[in-house]
Amino acid sequence: MDKQIVLKYNNTATKELCGICKWKMKNTMPIGAFLEGTDTSVCDECIEKHSPEVLKAKSAYFDSKVCEIAQIGSKIKVTKKQCYGTVHGLVEIAVGTILNVQSRNSSDDGISARETITLNGQLGEKILNLEVWDTDYVVLN
Ligand SMILES: [Zn+2]
Repeated sequence: MDKQIVLKYNNTATKELCGICKWKMKNTMPIGAFLEGTDTSVCDECIEKHSPEVLKAKSAYFDSKVCEIAQIGSKIKVTKKQCYGTVHGLVEIAVGTILNVQSRNSSDDGISARETITLNGQLGEKILNLEVWDTDYVVLN
């Protein structure tokens, strides 16, 4: 049976061995290629050999605006609903919400924004620190 290669979120920036050819490689971030159902990375040459369409999808992703990285002071628009567990309960940030980037997050795979959010019930407005992955927004400026 041929090996299935899938693209998924990756936040591990370590050198490892390709799961197919055992060549030393570094998977891409924030989207990497893996053997399906595992965290075993696959190198570009093996993707090309086994699933050229997956390599095309990966290239398209990295060529697109999707992975444009916001800088401090940028405005971003959230493209995936964000949920945060806070002391006030679960806070949801809707798709289309515009945030001001305050800093890169500690693991450097997303941004942090400090925003005033209106909470449900009698909690009113609170300032919350929000973190958004680089894969979950587009840069507006
Ligand atoms: Zn390989």
